[in-house]
Amino acid sequence: MKFSTKAIHAGQEPDPTTGAIMTPIYQTSTYAQTGMGEHKGFEYARTGNPTRSALEECIASLENGTHGLAFASGMAAESAALSLLSAGDHMISCDDLYGGSYRIFERIMSRYNIETSYVPAGTITEYEKAIRPNTKLIWLETPTNPLLRLVDIQAVAEVAHRHNLLLVVDNTFSSPYFQQPLTLGADIVLHSTTKYINGHSDVIGGAVVTSNEQVYGALKFYQNAAGGVPGPFDVWLTLRGIKTLTVRMRQHEENARSVARFLMEHKRVEKVYYPGLSSHPDYELAKRQMSGFGGMVSFQFKGTLADVEDIVRRFKVFTFAESLGGVESLVCHPASMTHGSIPRDIREARGLNDTLLRLSVGIEDIEDIIGDLEQALA
Ligand code: PLP
Repeated sequence: MKFSTKAIHAGQEPDPTTGAIMTPIYQTSTYAQTGMGEHKGFEYARTGNPTRSALEECIASLENGTHGLAFASGMAAESAALSLLSAGDHMISCDDLYGGSYRIFERIMSRYNIETSYVPAGTITEYEKAIRPNTKLIWLETPTNPLLRLVDIQAVAEVAHRHNLLLVVDNTFSSPYFQQPLTLGADIVLHSTTKYINGHSDVIGGAVVTSNEQVYGALKFYQNAAGGVPGPFDVWLTLRGIKTLTVRMRQHEENARSVARFLMEHKRVEKVYYPGLSSHPDYELAKRQMSGFGGMVSFQFKGTLADVEDIVRRFKVFTFAESLGGVESLVCHPASMTHGSIPRDIREARGLNDTLLRLSVGIEDIEDIIGDLEQALA
């Protein structure tokens, strides 16, 4: 099956008891057992739930993986991937990444004596140089958040596997529609399904996909043991959202391209970050690694923090809010919002300063989106 067919059908057979074509919401905490060890594959809903199984199978299929696991949030999915490490291990991460990922590495994993080294996103040789005898894992986000740099997944996978390390890729920004990291050599792909996968800003969720049986066994064990599972209604909403992933992603991208072009021409805009611009330093890699450039655009405003504070109050179509990937356009100020947990000096050294705005370009009519930007920046 091809991508859009899988989004609509994978894991979602009509219900065997009633023929309902939509997967039922199995709102139950436990399941009747006919005798000791005799049941229909489900014992207790932290361990397994048929609505959740449908979503797990669907996401795994979209990522070209054999196993998927759904979690209560993207961060719960990240915790699962990080549970593969033990006290004293070392990991390497690209330096431009979601602030919450940085926070869990620095404030939680560090307490288990698990240290993270940060490498400038696109410098492949630096990943190899950062490897130590106790390194176990490389963590990538590509495109990065919020500066939209790219990392060559295939090249880093080669480094990782040469040194027996696991490669984890956070694919939240692209969605599997534009990028499939497992196909490029990653061992684990991770999502905040809160974003494009659900796509309607009404659920918090996460997922992990792998084709490595051993890794799957450990992650499945962790899911049940730690228990950060999503509820059946959230899973059902996500399954509902995923069916339109293809058409939403196409429209997000078409609108984002127009927004990037508009911003490039604007006299109050210092710099535009969008991998679909031929001036973007990773444009060639983006064309090779992704099948589209996505719906996220960041830009540097020519002015002061006070100007930016004024601009964010003026938007009428864009909503000033955290998050991304929903059908509606959002604008975010990373320095004070999504990346506020990164200390200012580290943030600024990475190029993330106070006049950067990040747009999650929605699928409204493009005339209204551009019109709103025009009036807000005027
Ligand atoms: N990864 C990325 C790239 C994100 O942007 C986010 C949240 O913004 C997360 C992970 C965490 O996901 P959640 O908010 O669903 O816990």
